[in-house]
Amino acid sequence: MDASDIVRVPAARVERLVGAIMTAAGCSTKESEGIARRLVGANLRGHDSHGVIRSPRYVEWIDIGRVVPGQAVVIEKENDVIAILDGGYGFGQSLGEETVDIGVAKAKKNGVGVTALKHAGHLGRIGDWAERAAEHNCASLHMVNVRGSLLVAPFGARERRGGTSPFCAGVPVGQGEPIVLDFATSIVAEGKALVAARGGKALPDGALINEAGTATNDPVALYGDTPPGRSPDARQGLGALSGFGLHKGSGLNFFMEMFAGALTGSGTNGALGETERRRFCNGMLSIYMDVDFFHSDEWFATEVRNFVDFWKSAALAEGHEEVLVPGEVERRTMAERSENGLPLSATAWDDILATAVRVGLSDDEIRGLTAA
Ligand code: NAD
Repeated sequence: MDASDIVRVPAARVERLVGAIMTAAGCSTKESEGIARRLVGANLRGHDSHGVIRSPRYVEWIDIGRVVPGQAVVIEKENDVIAILDGGYGFGQSLGEETVDIGVAKAKKNGVGVTALKHAGHLGRIGDWAERAAEHNCASLHMVNVRGSLLVAPFGARERRGGTSPFCAGVPVGQGEPIVLDFATSIVAEGKALVAARGGKALPDGALINEAGTATNDPVALYGDTPPGRSPDARQGLGALSGFGLHKGSGLNFFMEMFAGALTGSGTNGALGETERRRFCNGMLSIYMDVDFFHSDEWFATEVRNFVDFWKSAALAEGHEEVLVPGEVERRTMAERSENGLPLSATAWDDILATAVRVGLSDDEIRGLTAA
């Protein structure tokens, strides 16, 4: 993609338009605002694959019943420290907020809280949930699987058995910004393969494995040959995405299926002999720890700050300009994009505008929503 294919749109305008699209598609105003805020939040932090580019897909998902507007979590079972929750295939943006609030409330009472969320619609950028917990001075861990999204081959294989299953950990740092690590357990998220398949930034070597079992960076392994005028479809390729970190990342990916899929009751990505792919959903197993229970003073925040300085002071390796801590890239991108607007590919912006028309917004309404 060259620079002429990029449009810069102020975040507030994109958020208004996406919110209106979701309302017209059947979500309440509150749910629509939450979806739009979180999608734009992913773009602001540089994770465009989990940003507003998803809104046309969300509308399609409502149409085909894959995701159900207006769902609240149902508490299936709970005690003082743990709650097992069913999301009823509702929007992850709404269910995620409720889930974190339940877990944090338990942590505030008991020092620790655990939530096991099953059957959630797409939970988006998982870092959102660690940040929400950190607002209440809770450290947290989040393990997520993506049932019904077979994309990733186990270490040593050329065939798909898992999803891009993200892992996320966060710690609060006093009154400052929390530190949040948040990544897919594949070398690249599927959205990045899509960008490469459309002629954008090339993938790193070995990000995929092709049907012959050879490591490659060619997205054809995931999408097959896409006919002109059609969107790349990850079900068409005969290869797979590769897990990150060789056997270690692959093992972590496996354990996302264990904790977020099997333990929560949401279900893993499959079993031998099944012919149908399972219904798409996210499962998420989260653990919240109240820092106030561990430390009654500022010791934790001071220790974290001191370690960050120590970490960043390490002498640089060849080709590197700086040592960063988790979350730093996202904070910098957010500062730049808040100032200059979201860089969206012209195709992605056109898709969003076309979706607005499709859900019934008039040209005047669209102009009003996207005006300064
Ligand atoms: P990524 O590869 O960009 O890694 C991001 C993490 O690495 C961040 O914590 C970031 O701060 C850190 N990081 C990046 N560069 C760094 C550097 N130079 N030094 C130190 N740390 C650095 O992320 P990804 O794997 O592409 O995932 C993108 C998003 O996709 C995540 O928000 C994830 O939650 C989301 N996701 C969601 C689902 C779902 O089903 N809901 C599935 C997969 C991924």
